[in-house]
Amino acid sequence: MDLRQIGEFGLIHRIRKWITSSDPALVQGIGDDVAVIEMGAKALLVTTDILIEGIHFDRSWIGPYPLGRKALAVNFSDIASMGGTPKYFLISIGLPKDLPLSFVSSFYRGLKNEAKRFQVTLIGGDTSHSQKIVINICLLGEGRKRDLLFRRGARVGDALFVSGTLGDAALGLKILQKKGKIKGAEGLIKKHLSPCPRVGLGQAIAKHHLATAMIDISDGLLIDTSHLLEESGVGAQVREDRIPLSRPYRKWIHSFSKDPFQFALSGGEDYELLFTAPSEMSEGISSLARSLKIPITRIGEILPKKEGLHIIRKDGKDYSPSRLGFEHFR
Ligand code: ADP
Ligand code: MG
Repeated sequence: MDLRQIGEFGLIHRIRKWITSSDPALVQGIGDDVAVIEMGAKALLVTTDILIEGIHFDRSWIGPYPLGRKALAVNFSDIASMGGTPKYFLISIGLPKDLPLSFVSSFYRGLKNEAKRFQVTLIGGDTSHSQKIVINICLLGEGRKRDLLFRRGARVGDALFVSGTLGDAALGLKILQKKGKIKGAEGLIKKHLSPCPRVGLGQAIAKHHLATAMIDISDGLLIDTSHLLEESGVGAQVREDRIPLSRPYRKWIHSFSKDPFQFALSGGEDYELLFTAPSEMSEGISSLARSLKIPITRIGEILPKKEGLHIIRKDGKDYSPSRLGFEHFR
C-alpha cells in the first residue's frame, strides 16, 4: 500500500492510532486545528503548518513579502478557529543556495508586518539548505479553557454557519495560474495572496459562547465540514443556494467552471470560520456580525451521523458529493 491509496487524511488517521497519549494535561492532541495543553485556567495553544515551493506556492505568482505574511496568517487562522489569542512563533526555513538575500529580507519584512498585526513575537527557528523553499511555522497561543471551541462539539439540530464569502481565493489562484492579472479580478487574487485570518471573530464567538464547534476553512468547505462532522460524530446538510458568494466570484466563475459552486465548495484557502450553534444563538450571532461588520451566513443544519454530508440544490434535489476537495497524495 502506498500513500496514494490512503491520502493525507488516511495517513493522519493512522498516525493518530500509532501515537496515543494519556497525558492528563493534554486537552486536545492530534485531530483539531490546534493542540491544547491545560495550564491552570488558561490553555496553551500550539499549531504548525508547512509551505513547500511547487506544492503550496510558486515564485512566479507570489513574491517574498506576501509569502512571509501568508506563512504566518495561515497559522493565525488555526488559532482563530479555537477562539484563542496568538502569542509567539518559531520559523524553520529550507532555502536554495542561489536564492538572493533580498528575497529572504523581503520575506522577513512580510513576516514582521503580519506579526505586528496580531502582536506576536518571533522567538526562534531553524535554517537549512534545500532544493526548494520550505517554510514551517509553529505558532503558540493562549485561551481561556472554558471558552475554547473544538471540532468535536456539534450537536444534531445545530445550525451551520460560515463567515465571509467562499471560493474567492481558489478562483483567484486559478486566475493567477491561467491568465495572470485580469482587470476586475484583483479582489479574488488578493484573497489568495493575502488572507485575512478571522482572529477577532473567533475570539468573540468563543468569549460569548455562541457556538458548539468551530473549524477554519483551509482545504475547502466540504472537506473541512467533513472534519468537523467526523470529530463530532454527526452528519449535515448544506444548502447550495445559501453559500455566500462574492460579486467578483459570481462574475468570474463562469470563465473557469460550469459549476458555479465548484470553488466555493471544494476550493481551498478561504481561511473563513465554519461553526455550529443551536437556533437560540442566531440573534447573538447576527448582532456580532453587524458589530464586527463581517458577514455570517447560515448555510445548513447538523443531522444524525447516518445521514452523512449532503448538499441540497436550489431545485430541492440533494446529492452526496463524491469528491470533497483537495487532499495531498491523491
Ligand atoms: P489544518 O488543516 O487545520 O492545519 P490538518 O488537516 O493539517 O489541520 O491536521 C489535522 C490534525 O492532524 C492536526 O491535529 C494536526 O496537528 C495533525 N497532524 C497533521 N499531520 C501530522 C503528522 N505528520 N504527525 C502528527 N500529527 C499530524
Ligand atoms: Mg485548520
